[in-house]
Amino acid sequence: MKTSNFRIVPLHTEIAEAARCAADAGAPDHAVVFADSPNGYPCRHCLRWAQPGERMILFPFAAIPPGHPYSESGPIFVHAEPCERYAATDQYPEEFRQNRVVRAYNSKQDMVDAKVANGAEPEAVVEKFLQNPEVAFLHVRSVSHGCYTMQIERI
Ligand SMILES: [Zn+2]
Repeated sequence: MKTSNFRIVPLHTEIAEAARCAADAGAPDHAVVFADSPNGYPCRHCLRWAQPGERMILFPFAAIPPGHPYSESGPIFVHAEPCERYAATDQYPEEFRQNRVVRAYNSKQDMVDAKVANGAEPEAVVEKFLQNPEVAFLHVRSVSHGCYTMQIERI
């Protein structure tokens, strides 16, 4: 049986919980919205698309923290109601096989490579990037919107 060399790292539960608290407190940079399409509101915590009618929080997340040339903060969604963090961390999430780019970063958090990977491609791209010893971790993002989807690390 083939074993993967990667581990999916969904958004940490503490960050999702903090976003829910901030939204409840009325923080201006935490918008509460209702999903109105089946493929427009990806939750970074359970790594599923929200179903139309589900309540979501939209807030800025620093995927690469301040203090680096590639520092980046951008909007992400999480479910407004508590959801179960994605647990199948040895499997690439089936719901995010379209419109994705994989970015590779080194230990200084500089981007060193990137490749669009859709359909059946993500695992091969992820494994190839992680075979490069210079690469420390990967990010998956939306090609069209640029939004951060998840981190992937080497096992
Ligand atoms: Zn969720």
